[in-house]
Amino acid sequence: MSDRLVKFMAHVDMAKITCIDSTELVETARKIHMLNPTPTAALGRMLTMTAMMGAMLKEDGEKISAQIMGDGPVKTILAVSDNKARVKGYVGEPLAEAEHIREGKLNVAGIIGNGHLNIIKDIGLKEPYIGNVELQTGEIAEDFAYYYAVSEQIPTAVALGVLVDKDGSVKRAGGYIIQILPETPEEIIKLIENRIASSKSITEMLEDNMSLEEIATYISDDLNTRVVEEIVPKYECDCSKDRMERALLSIGKNDLAELAQDGKAELVCHFCNKKYELSVREENGEFIVE
Ligand SMILES: [Zn+2]
Repeated sequence: MSDRLVKFMAHVDMAKITCIDSTELVETARKIHMLNPTPTAALGRMLTMTAMMGAMLKEDGEKISAQIMGDGPVKTILAVSDNKARVKGYVGEPLAEAEHIREGKLNVAGIIGNGHLNIIKDIGLKEPYIGNVELQTGEIAEDFAYYYAVSEQIPTAVALGVLVDKDGSVKRAGGYIIQILPETPEEIIKLIENRIASSKSITEMLEDNMSLEEIATYISDDLNTRVVEEIVPKYECDCSKDRMERALLSIGKNDLAELAQDGKAELVCHFCNKKYELSVREENGEFIVE
């Protein structure tokens, strides 16, 4: 079993569906960041969503970042994806937990609190596109659906789910996005709305061993749903020594002068926890990091 992301068209190309099984990539994130169950669900939903949004980008080199800043104990959640659904992310507090409101249900909204969702699309323009909405429920899927309605004016349904096993590992993770064209007839919209309202959750459908093709066909209520593209999403960090050197050089002269006295600096990548040992020295008033 491995992760998949498939893009579909339904109802004679009036509905665009993206569907993902992100179980492995969310489990990879959990292990890297040693996350408690609720932050696993929260970061997992963000990574799942960002992978799908990334896969909708057209060109190589384009990137999307989604960030939640809230007043709850997890503080912040960041997820980044490129157009091949290579994702990475982290949370402010990996051990954050909140009281469970319903038996057996992780309280994602409880660790996020009130706050904002920021979307940054870097699509090769001079300035990146930035969208910002207030969190609606803090359950993430609804917040992204609201973002699409308000910032991009696209009617969008979003489902995201992470099922955490008793031992804390990720049992299932996945999601889907459905977007419809403005000229879609009301009957088709009703069909899709009814299916979404009566369908099981995405993790339950994956637990029932439904394929992404079966899920897309079911939620769109269209037997002629067709596959447009398939990609393999994964958790992958693109950090490098070069990038770390540049980041260190940007911290300011006073801090660099302090590091130069020690002669070295240790940097840790937020996304993959890889450690970089860099040497720092001052020569003729210039700082050299290598
Ligand atoms: Zn890294």
